[in-house]
Amino acid sequence: MVQEQTIREPISFSGVGLHSGAAVKMRILPAPVGTGICFRRVDLDGFSIEAVGRNVAKVSYATSLMKRGVLISTTEHALSALMGAGIDNAIIELDQLELPILDGSAKPFLDAIHRVGIKRQRRQRIYWRIAKPVEIVEGDKFLAVYPANRYSISYTIDFPRPIGLQTFDLDLTGDAYESQIAPARTFGFLRDERALRNMGLIRGASEENAIVLTDSGVKNGPLRFRDEFVRHKILDLIGDLALLGHRILGKVVANRAGHAMHTALVSRLLRDRFLWEEAHISREAASEALSEVEEASSVFARS
Ligand SMILES: [Zn+2]
Repeated sequence: MVQEQTIREPISFSGVGLHSGAAVKMRILPAPVGTGICFRRVDLDGFSIEAVGRNVAKVSYATSLMKRGVLISTTEHALSALMGAGIDNAIIELDQLELPILDGSAKPFLDAIHRVGIKRQRRQRIYWRIAKPVEIVEGDKFLAVYPANRYSISYTIDFPRPIGLQTFDLDLTGDAYESQIAPARTFGFLRDERALRNMGLIRGASEENAIVLTDSGVKNGPLRFRDEFVRHKILDLIGDLALLGHRILGKVVANRAGHAMHTALVSRLLRDRFLWEEAHISREAASEALSEVEEASSVFARS
């Protein structure tokens, strides 16, 4: 059976928050089985906020968590990297309210995790296998998850030029996350910059941590992928769905969604226990998934 995992050694980062512009030091620490992912504000006597849907606060340009008035902002890229690396248990220490943006992608987090290595732990990982379709519609925005035997995402975005219509399909198996999603950076339009800065939303933004778009093209190219934008939306989605506290077995379909819809899906799944069932998957099933074999028999419900 696939087991829970943590990192082998603590890892450290320093940088600025994209939205706050505040300098921040962050560490990711190994944690025992059953911990899940938990944030800790070392500047507030180690106040802990679990990375779970019930702690989701306001969601607009980034996903934030709040517990008893204490905020943790822009959680999605680090949580995405932890999901992508297969980490179940970790403590994320911060001395500020916002995570560092680093290069705007999940790659620096993932690279650091791989440098120290991953430790398999003595407990079987519990997946949430989607049992019934869940669809959320808001105008022309759509987000759904359907029963399936592995975790896959199909995301479509439609932004003004020069991005346009982009679709990307991802099967979260093998090194797909690392090679195709983790390097994709966040992005913004130059024409929105002044308004966003005035609202205090991008105090830390620079050409080193976001793709900057003009009406005609990319100001600070080259892109890492031709369709880097939709890949980044998948990165964000994976980070937001980490707030379920469990990996899903299901097919996610998104069209023009964003953090608010992502976290709305998390709330729906947390609220309705009949939309999913707990499951373990065998190591063989995991490796079958790696070779793209569609086999349902090795996935079973625990209850
Ligand atoms: Zn993002």
